[in-house]
Amino acid sequence: MSTATTPESSSSRVPGVRWDPVFDELGFPEDPENLYTQTVATMLESAETVALPHRVKIILAQPKNEFMVHFPVRMDDGHHRLFKGYRVQHNNALGPYKGGLRFHPNIHLDDVKSLALMMTIKTSLVRLPLGGGKGGVKCDPRALSEGELQRVARRFTTAILNDIGPDYDIPAPDVGTNAQVMAWIADTYQMSTNNRTSTEAMRVVTGKPVEIGGSLGRNKATGQGVVDTLVEMLPALDMPMTDLRVSVQGWGNVGSWAGRILEKKGAKVVSVMDHTGVLHNDHGFDCEALTEYCMEHGGIAGFEKHASASASGKNPGLGGEVVSLEEFYTNPVDIFIPAALEQMVKTREAEMIQCKVVIEGANGPVTPDADEILERRGIPVIPDILANAGGVTVSHFEWVQNKTNHMWTEEFVDAELNRYMVMAARRTLLARQKFGVPLRKAAYCSALAHIGDVYRVRGIFP
Ligand code: NAD
Repeated sequence: MSTATTPESSSSRVPGVRWDPVFDELGFPEDPENLYTQTVATMLESAETVALPHRVKIILAQPKNEFMVHFPVRMDDGHHRLFKGYRVQHNNALGPYKGGLRFHPNIHLDDVKSLALMMTIKTSLVRLPLGGGKGGVKCDPRALSEGELQRVARRFTTAILNDIGPDYDIPAPDVGTNAQVMAWIADTYQMSTNNRTSTEAMRVVTGKPVEIGGSLGRNKATGQGVVDTLVEMLPALDMPMTDLRVSVQGWGNVGSWAGRILEKKGAKVVSVMDHTGVLHNDHGFDCEALTEYCMEHGGIAGFEKHASASASGKNPGLGGEVVSLEEFYTNPVDIFIPAALEQMVKTREAEMIQCKVVIEGANGPVTPDADEILERRGIPVIPDILANAGGVTVSHFEWVQNKTNHMWTEEFVDAELNRYMVMAARRTLLARQKFGVPLRKAAYCSALAHIGDVYRVRGIFP
């Protein structure tokens, strides 16, 4: 039985967060800064728009399983350090739990829950036969040696061994992890579950190196998906795809691939920031050179000096100049791509940003109150659950290739990815038109309507 929200109960007791009665029913704390509360509020608001039954709302408002583990790891100097790890399995109504593993010093349970919920919504929007999950380890991978990182990855895998599986819960890379970490996880999984063949065991993770069953095109998939989405959405937002000036926050996997692919399409990436610095180049960065520099030096800081020194003369001033954070946000661009971490665009940044469209490469980079400001300023936000769905989509392709023991060409992967991204973008635009809502809400509406249909036909056990 659906419980409709009354105007009184939906009042905003927490700034920027619409307080749904489900929060009281499930005992959520009134914390406006809490990413999980923000994400659930976004979900519940759209759930009401599509008249999702109350029973589905409360299921989606909390993850199905939350695992928190502690495990010791021997460090290079011989002493043992205790690490904290998480795996949250949000929902598996559509298929096996699916979502990345993050190695980061500031990871918290509520962040992981939030990212897991976003995965459930994302896989549904793209209509993948997968559920949502997320996990990680509280650590700074940059401060670990390769040996220490490998022991952390393997020991964490052992700690969650019985809770993951090739047809049950399939991790992938996220911030601070990569294909190599996935390879260690897959290897540990196979060594510890001796009843499995190598090919079956390797399916326990995606985003693996190609040598052990990774998909061609997976590394760039999220950035590629950002660009595919942009190409599909810009005409609907009355913007041409020509002469674009772009600003990117976070030059990691997602940001650097989105930047490099956009540059190949004729765009200019003029502003970049990461955890080491902020750079501006009015002529547009050489994105390939910037990425190579980052890989070698761990961040963009110093690229301006390095690039000027090594410039071949084809583009003097290649490296641009160091600018302030204020300048980064206020320099006018067409497209702003937040591709670093969640909650990086708050009210202050939302007031400052000078762009025509925001497309979220990162998960949850724009807070709800910042979202409201951008909407008031007439700046459309192409939401994370659509824009960065390319990663999980090609992860799904990898899983299918592993199941069928057949490797797709990169051209086929790219073409299929484009097909999925275009369909997801069109679903979002249709929902925007049908419900008369902004893009984020539209994407949630489409995804939630699909989950609602699945629960309607499956029913709720018993
Ligand atoms: P990454 O670790 O490769 O890159 C993260 C980037 O963010 C780095 O450039 C880092 O310097 C920057 N950064 C970190 N803290 C910062 C700070 N305080 N200020 C400015 N910059 C900062 O991670 P990634 O895989 O590119 O993921 C980025 C975002 O995209 C995350 O939100 C992640 O969940 C999301 N995402 C990633 C994928 C994927 O396939 N990798 C898929 C979907 C979504």
